[in-house]
Amino acid sequence: MLLDKKGFIIDIDGVVGKSKTPIAEGVKAVKKLKEMGKKIIFVSNNSTRSRRILLERLRSFGLDVSEDEILVATYATARFIAREKPGARVFTTGERGLIEELELAGLKLVEYNEAEYLVVGSNRGINFELMTKALRACLRGTRYVATNPDRVFPSEDGPIPGTGMIIGALYWMTGKEPDVIVGKPSKVIMEEALKILGLKASEVAVVGDQIDVDVAAGKAIGAETVLVLTGVTTRENLQQMIERHGLEPDYVLDSLYSIFER
Ligand SMILES: [Mg+2]
Repeated sequence: MLLDKKGFIIDIDGVVGKSKTPIAEGVKAVKKLKEMGKKIIFVSNNSTRSRRILLERLRSFGLDVSEDEILVATYATARFIAREKPGARVFTTGERGLIEELELAGLKLVEYNEAEYLVVGSNRGINFELMTKALRACLRGTRYVATNPDRVFPSEDGPIPGTGMIIGALYWMTGKEPDVIVGKPSKVIMEEALKILGLKASEVAVVGDQIDVDVAAGKAIGAETVLVLTGVTTRENLQQMIERHGLEPDYVLDSLYSIFER
């Protein structure tokens, strides 16, 4: 039974909001789960926003959440590196939100030729100079960590390049892929979520709107998965998505609120 779970690992975009617009049923459901005393953590692959920025967005939806209820790829990446090598010297392609989290985790931002880690995250101001530096860090064999594997990102007026733009370019230039990918469907970010919740995979449900991202991430840690049809996946394309990705969610709900109507 879904409502017997002690905790819920919930995706943001397509579940409780679409960019800056709230999804009413999703917001209402999270409020109710919290009232029931369930532990909640929002997990997002966003690589340009810090926890602080996402916190403001969730609060603007009317959700009363704290920073430790948000796990975003920027923060998870910083925690992962800080645990592997405290105080490590890092070079990043990322923008302010990622830099903020790397510094908060005690990592030192340096130039590519001094770096122990190459941290690849999206950057809406990426240019030839920054790509040159990332290329050179990659060629030096610097440990390569990517915030998330998203090829494209659904923005309000259509798809925009995701972190995949940089991962793809580096791969084409050097043949190298990231040593570690942190964001969903990787279990790195999901295990961090379990650690923060203080729960086992069997005690949580993983909720999201994408089979290849959220359902795959849930299965990676062996948790039960809930696909909601308020985002990328719809009634119309559901079967096609299941076949395309070869993964079947444990539950399919019209919205997160349907969890109470089962
Ligand atoms: Mg989503």
